[in-house]
Amino acid sequence: MNILILGSGGREHALAWKMAGSPLADKLYCAPGNAGIAREAECVALDVADHRAVISFCQAKKIELVVVGPEGPLCAGIVDDLEKAGIKAFGPSKWAARLEGSKGFTKDLCKANKIPTAGYERFKHAGEAKDYVRRKGAPIVVKADGLAAGKGVVVAETLVEAEAAIDMKFGGGLGAPAWEIVIEDCLVGEEASFFALCDGETAIALAAAQDHKRVGDGDKGPNTGGMGAYSPAPIMTTEMNQRVMDEIIHPTVRAMKALGAPYKGVLFAGLMITKSGPQLIEYNVRFGDPECQVLMLRLMSDLVPALLAARDGQLKNFDLRWYPDASLTVVMAAKGYPGNYQRGTLIEGLDEAAQVEGVEVFHAGTKADGARILANGGRVLNVSARGRNVREAQTRAYAAVDKIKWPGGFCRHDIGWRAVKRET
Ligand code: AMP
Repeated sequence: MNILILGSGGREHALAWKMAGSPLADKLYCAPGNAGIAREAECVALDVADHRAVISFCQAKKIELVVVGPEGPLCAGIVDDLEKAGIKAFGPSKWAARLEGSKGFTKDLCKANKIPTAGYERFKHAGEAKDYVRRKGAPIVVKADGLAAGKGVVVAETLVEAEAAIDMKFGGGLGAPAWEIVIEDCLVGEEASFFALCDGETAIALAAAQDHKRVGDGDKGPNTGGMGAYSPAPIMTTEMNQRVMDEIIHPTVRAMKALGAPYKGVLFAGLMITKSGPQLIEYNVRFGDPECQVLMLRLMSDLVPALLAARDGQLKNFDLRWYPDASLTVVMAAKGYPGNYQRGTLIEGLDEAAQVEGVEVFHAGTKADGARILANGGRVLNVSARGRNVREAQTRAYAAVDKIKWPGGFCRHDIGWRAVKRET
């Protein structure tokens, strides 16, 4: 079948790399793609926000499955529009994508279905929100409703910080002013990312991962979209995985079906593993980036039938096989990220890096200039590796990083530290 992937990051490169190996994939396209994805798929300059253009392309190229990478098009209803045009699409409907698009919606769904999550209240006015935080005290968490590309959350250590965050969100400190904010109790524990594949009725566990959000070594400095990840997450024991399925994922899938918005696609639960068990921090309605990269390296089964089964409501009798190995990815970013950074700097040594045993280099933000590869974004490369354990995957990934000659870039040097410490 002909398949179209929507997106342009390392997540989409990992999906393209995995699907390119499927005997079911005849011709793979990616819109808009990047220089690395171009090795696996034909990249097309489509505007993903223009649903009509995407539908016309699918009709012209006889696309039988569209796989949507990022949350933006999902929340904009691209799956609904493609399906209406008779084109199979993997991912949730606009209505179901509210699990990521609206924190208030998700918190209310959790409360109504006894899904463990931090206590909270929703506010439309700064005054009431400030009264609430004064009553509750710090630390406390302030979130804007709506998509915020990972920048919508302030974990306030003091009341002064919490009040400033409330003013900033209603005042529109970052982007448009929030129409509603959610204020939550601060959870304490270890974070993990859990992924499940859902077909509207049935959910099957994929795998868990952990990522590093802070830009600097030792988990210091500003938050980013993610500077690295590894899988499996040592904290996610077999028992903990089962608890997450029973207490969080299954009740969510049942609740979404009952609401008339059955959830199909990847459900990505951001978790806090507390002393009393798993708590949901947030849902995302797609694969994580860079978590997808480590998941794809560990997935032994063909991805294409799994995505089709999720789309077709046929996961009930489906099973996926995984390599027992661990995997790890190191994000290489342009110097200055997550602040201002330069585009267009030259990257060399990619072929040498890819020759290190167990290594795949996924491109997150690159463009080709003839035979040269140039940086074209904040997060630019995901140097990824498999190994018998996290330590071996880490050693291999950093051996590959050392082969890459990119004076305009940097990476963290301690991705996976927590897991490696546990292993030793
Ligand atoms: P989110 O965008 O909701 O995933 O939040 C981003 C980050 O903020 C999370 O990965 C956590 O580190 C932190 N965070 C969000 N909500 C809470 C909470 N209720 N308690 C503690 N930390 C939180």
